[in-house]
Amino acid sequence: MIIEPKVRGFICTAAHPVGCEQAVARQIEYVKQQGSLTSAPRTVLVIGCSTGYGLATRIVEAFGAASATIGVCFERPAAGKRTATAGWYNTAAFERAAKDAGVFAKTINGDAFSDEIKQQVITCIKDYGRKIDTVVYSLASPRRKDPDSAEVYQSVLKTTGQTYVNKSVDVMRGELKEVTIEAATPVEIDQTIAVMGGADLERWTDQLLAADVLAEGAQVIAYSYIGPELTYPIYRDGTIGKAKDDVLSVCHRLEDKLQAIGGSAQVAVNKAVVTQASAAIPVVPLYLSVLHKVMVEKGVEEGCIEQMHRLARDYTYASVPLERDAEGRIRIDNWELRDDVQAEVSRIWSQISSENLDQLTDLAAYQEQFFQLFGFRLPGVDYSAEVDPVQSIPSIESEEAG
Ligand code: NAD
Repeated sequence: MIIEPKVRGFICTAAHPVGCEQAVARQIEYVKQQGSLTSAPRTVLVIGCSTGYGLATRIVEAFGAASATIGVCFERPAAGKRTATAGWYNTAAFERAAKDAGVFAKTINGDAFSDEIKQQVITCIKDYGRKIDTVVYSLASPRRKDPDSAEVYQSVLKTTGQTYVNKSVDVMRGELKEVTIEAATPVEIDQTIAVMGGADLERWTDQLLAADVLAEGAQVIAYSYIGPELTYPIYRDGTIGKAKDDVLSVCHRLEDKLQAIGGSAQVAVNKAVVTQASAAIPVVPLYLSVLHKVMVEKGVEEGCIEQMHRLARDYTYASVPLERDAEGRIRIDNWELRDDVQAEVSRIWSQISSENLDQLTDLAAYQEQFFQLFGFRLPGVDYSAEVDPVQSIPSIESEEAG
């Protein structure tokens, strides 16, 4: 069939398999060009491996370090006239490339919050026969089912202080608008912490430790975001920020639990990038449109793959790892938060109006990156050609066959 984008709000409900393959290939190429990160490949578990930062991490590990990767994601294959999700196509393309390169890759598709998927991962690690050196936690989800109580928690993207009003953009219409974000109720804050906080990461770590599948010195790394003052009301001081605070305190607790195997747990604070998760946060797409312009002009712009490569080079595989901040966090958001970058973002922000939106921001670049998340608008792809939407993920297919 011929596949075209179908945008509904901040999500695209169709994905293009050839475009997704192309997007994955571009990331692999970038990593290969940087040269090998290590002569000692690891075994890496990436929870949230199919899009955004998790996918980029998996690509860096497999193609920059020849690491074996076990990935967990929650994606949908094609069915009838419905295409698969982008994460499904990305994973299919990633696994094909890993296989060609002779690097082990196994994907488990299902709800990472469930104990069932955790146990499947543990069985997979045991079958593979090498313990996990690095666990990367890169989930972004609007809900989580509690494995003990079966309660389904829903996260919200709200502020926790006063009602917050700021500029935002309707990305598809290219129109500036004003958004009003209400303060969350205490229940909404608790629910968001229950979804995006550290409870599930702790459960993963407990179960991996109990099953003795973490290697001596294993590292647990959870991704987080802080951002500039401009977005504090919706991010750092919002419900999601409270959940991220919880991830940090869980990581501190995990350091103690991991001591027995000489392991560590830390938060890596990454830069704001265009992903399915960030597209959902009010104000952030407009902020990203300005940030992109400023960081490109200053020659310091990075996407997921550049960020994850820098994290691996300067931290995970560095002989002298990057110093952590006072809270013990790894800060690869340092270029985004540079004073000169943020001063310029603020200067532009105060001037944006409907009339000058296109001149003062890189909204066009944001839109392009948004479509590329779903495999559209990639150079070199013939979008008028018929494609088969049914694509298999090799390690899932072989399991189904076996
Ligand atoms: P994303 O939406 O691109 O990826 C989310 C991943 O989680 C996907 O692989 C998806 O399949 C998986 N997932 C979601 N629910 C799942 C479930 N129930 N079971 C199994 N897998 C599930 O998101 P992203 O933007 O790459 O975010 C990843 C992490 O990075 C988050 O912790 C986020 O806070 C952090 N981060 C993001 C940004 C940003 O600007 N996007 C910046 C800094 C930090």
